[in-house]
Amino acid sequence: MTDSDCVLCAGREMDGVLLVTEVWSNEFWRLTTTTVGEIAGYSYLSTHRHIEDISALDGDEQESFGAVVWRTTSAIKEATGADHVYVYVMGDGIDHLHLHLAPWRGPTSPLIDDPIKGARHKVILSTGEEVWVSDRYPLQPRGLMTIAIADIRELLAE
Ligand SMILES: [Zn+2]
Repeated sequence: MTDSDCVLCAGREMDGVLLVTEVWSNEFWRLTTTTVGEIAGYSYLSTHRHIEDISALDGDEQESFGAVVWRTTSAIKEATGADHVYVYVMGDGIDHLHLHLAPWRGPTSPLIDDPIKGARHKVILSTGEEVWVSDRYPLQPRGLMTIAIADIRELLAE
């Protein structure tokens, strides 16, 4: 299944426009690496099939996902000498599943290491707990957090 308007479904045809080059692929997955950018080795792991997110992985894509992420991030880490390879999955820009595999080389790295927007400041709660909180977004009510925890736990218990 492909989407004719999707730049990732176009495969190698769009690599030049996206400033990436294919470094590996198999029947289900494709790894491309940036040819221009702030970080050498910054790569994208995408499905061949047009799906929007990880929850839409199917059959062999699901079964191979962990092994493929391990294999590709291990290669990127070794090739670049990175301390870690950050894995980001967004999806708001291009609605075709792709993981950003980003080699991180210490605190001077240009990578964003916090998924919450805004500067962080420490808050001591009435319970005595210390948390780092964004200056742009309020803490969510404990009841909402508890519902999300219970719902996720229940779904995974099935
Ligand atoms: Zn697509």
